[in-house]
Amino acid sequence: MSHIDYIDGILSIDGVPLTSIAAAVGTPVYCYSSATLADGYRAYADAFARNGLPNALVCYALKANGNLAVVRSLAALGAGADVVSEGELRRALAAGVPADRIIFSGVGKTPAEMAFALDRGIMQLNVESVEELATLNEVAIGMDRRAPVALRVNPDVAADTHDKISTGRKHDKFGIDWNAAPAIYQQAAAMPGIEVVGIAVHIGSQITSLSPYRAAFARVVEMARSLREDGVAIRRIDFGGGLGITYRDEAPPRVADYVGVIAEAVRDLQCEVVVEPGRRIAGPAGVLLARVVRVKRTVDRTFIVLDAAMNDLVRPAMYDAWHPIVPVVAPEPDSPRETVDVVGPICESTDMFAAQRELPRLREGDLVAFGAAGAYGAAMSSEYNSRLLVPEVLACEAIWSVVRRRPTFDDMLSQDAIPDWVRAPFNG
Ligand SMILES: *Cc1c(COP(=O)(O)O)cnc(C)c1O
Repeated sequence: MSHIDYIDGILSIDGVPLTSIAAAVGTPVYCYSSATLADGYRAYADAFARNGLPNALVCYALKANGNLAVVRSLAALGAGADVVSEGELRRALAAGVPADRIIFSGVGKTPAEMAFALDRGIMQLNVESVEELATLNEVAIGMDRRAPVALRVNPDVAADTHDKISTGRKHDKFGIDWNAAPAIYQQAAAMPGIEVVGIAVHIGSQITSLSPYRAAFARVVEMARSLREDGVAIRRIDFGGGLGITYRDEAPPRVADYVGVIAEAVRDLQCEVVVEPGRRIAGPAGVLLARVVRVKRTVDRTFIVLDAAMNDLVRPAMYDAWHPIVPVVAPEPDSPRETVDVVGPICESTDMFAAQRELPRLREGDLVAFGAAGAYGAAMSSEYNSRLLVPEVLACEAIWSVVRRRPTFDDMLSQDAIPDWVRAPFNG
């Protein structure tokens, strides 16, 4: 059963009508379903338990949606976290994720970020280059620590996803070259500031087939075995994230089947298992709620101009992404439909959410919802065009709360400063 559905003709989230949220908070606003978040997490946890891997750790990737209330909801169910910056690490800790369930990924960790992570005692840093390894070793020695490390290896498989979110090919900036990895592991094992604990892989995002996973996981397990034979203590395998969701008509694998591929790959290996799903957990749990500001008709087009824009939801502009768009008040079954362009008010032609989409006829003031917007929506939002950062709401069992408030215009202006030496406005 979907927790985001029409109740008495009004699109509702965990039993809360979106019309109520729009009336109280205004639009645009992101709304998240606690029940869907929980379903997303449990799909992984339950599948691991059924496959004899009850201790596998699901490290939710905060970059999909790092709202503290979202992360706390998942942490309460037992999730760990995958973070890619000090800011995300602080979010995970503030939300209550124990440090020993947090993984720090990313190609550009600064020495200060490394030190912060080591100071807090995080579970693992995923190292993406020999240069990063050397820096981490120095930072750790300076703190009289040993950094728990997995090398993120690049299995050189094409993930068959959008070019901008594929990460596991040889020429991508991510990971350590497959053939170089064994020698770098030997180097790492000899470094006094490094404790090798595992191996990591992440091949991309919005992956809708199991075959790239099968190929990559088989390679990683093979690498783990051969490293062990060479005396490197690999006790943990981090299989990354990336499992896709349905935006339009994609038919991504079931989580249970994906977990089955992992279980198969690690059979008789005796190792800890970690995964880092982001989109699959947060994506289906959110909608972006917006209002129609204007219906603009030209000779050959009808533009539905919304009060949401690409600064609130950048995926269509950035990745050519398709999001479902539905009216919040269910149209009468026989009401007319119309082919329209759904756009935002920003001064860029890319500020278009949908081109030539057939939708029920919309009028000024109508509310619409973008589906599958819980991941990489609010997390990628900005103030572009000096639009206020979009607020967020979390619903649960027919109650709801604002979990990130809409700033005021004064909040926004107060971030800037005018130095004394900038001349005063000319006033005659
Ligand atoms: C982005 C990312 C994830 C999460 O990706 P999803 O597609 O949201 O599941 C996990 N691990 C790493 C290293 C990432 O960069």
